[in-house]
Amino acid sequence: MLPTLVLVGRPNVGKSTLFNRLTRSRDALVADLPGLTRDRHYGRGRVGSKPYLVVDTGGLEPVAKDGILHEMARQTRQAVDEADLVLFLVDGRAGLTPQDRIIAQQLRKTGRTVLLVVNKAEGMQQARVTAEFHELGLGTPLPISSAHGDNVEEVIEIALEEF
Ligand code: GDP
Ligand code: MG
Repeated sequence: MLPTLVLVGRPNVGKSTLFNRLTRSRDALVADLPGLTRDRHYGRGRVGSKPYLVVDTGGLEPVAKDGILHEMARQTRQAVDEADLVLFLVDGRAGLTPQDRIIAQQLRKTGRTVLLVVNKAEGMQQARVTAEFHELGLGTPLPISSAHGDNVEEVIEIALEEF
């Protein structure tokens, strides 16, 4: 079984943009792997000689009757259940938000390994764009740009170190 990286984060932080970048290689789509749930996007990627499976949780839409917070909680729990490693994305331009704090708290409770990834960091000073995210208590925030590709491979190499 390939190591599974799950992309988690509030809407609009860039999960799908990162997913697309991470699965750009040929034969990336794994839509018909047996046993996989339909409401999440699965893809394959490779960094160096190491292949991985990546999951984008963005296919789930908030359910009106339950509200977005409930839906985010459910989405996060389900996705994290399948994860070898969670990439928790936040938006370095928007800064730290209440939704980020809620997700961070959920992730800490799961006991899973989490990498805190600060997206949209292109053209920004690394120390400055990551500074406020240290308080989430999920380790050193790693700046990337999903749109431009900056630092993406380096972060995936870190993620796959133990595999
Ligand atoms: P998701 O809701 O978390 O899946 O986020 P999307 O991948 O749909 O991206 C939300 C918005 O952020 C889109 O307009 C993207 O073009 C933009 N975006 C994603 N990654 C980056 C990035 O690295 N830099 C900048 N400036 N914008 C980004
Ligand atoms: Mg998305």
